Amino acid sequence: MIRYRIDTKTILSIENNAINKMLKYCQKKEFYESGGILLGKCRKDYSEFIITDVSEPCNRDKRGRYYFIRDKESAQKVINEKWQQSNGEINYLGEWHTHPEIIPKPSFLDRKVLKECLINNEYPFHGLFLIIVGIEGDLYVGYQTKEMKNLKQLQKI
Ligand SMILES: [Zn+2]
Repeated sequence: MIRYRIDTKTILSIENNAINKMLKYCQKKEFYESGGILLGKCRKDYSEFIITDVSEPCNRDKRGRYYFIRDKESAQKVINEKWQQSNGEINYLGEWHTHPEIIPKPSFLDRKVLKECLINNEYPFHGLFLIIVGIEGDLYVGYQTKEMKNLKQLQKI
């Protein structure tokens, strides 16, 4: 489990199962970018978000060395399944994908896409996370709400 600080009252925990699934696709091993959605839950008092699982690339996604566009319908199917299996506890928490760089950082397009997710989608919690997996397995973890102007990089605790 890795933990990140969101603000003084809230932390993000990422379970090992979710981390390992993402690391499988780091671009040391895979030529193309990979990605999917983040799934998890939030405590009722908003003290902790927990990423419990991620979706893996499917053959309907569009993938290149420097881009990844996930298929919307397949992702929605995964969200619905997980939500039902967990009796409404597990839901959509954001997006993840890999980058062919050692220290991963979000591109202009990544920031734009996340903002669009906040505007267009219905999301269950207060904000969305963006995880980018570097070529050696380093993680960039960002958080954004509708009210925040820019994506905020979270620090490990
Ligand atoms: Zn990117």
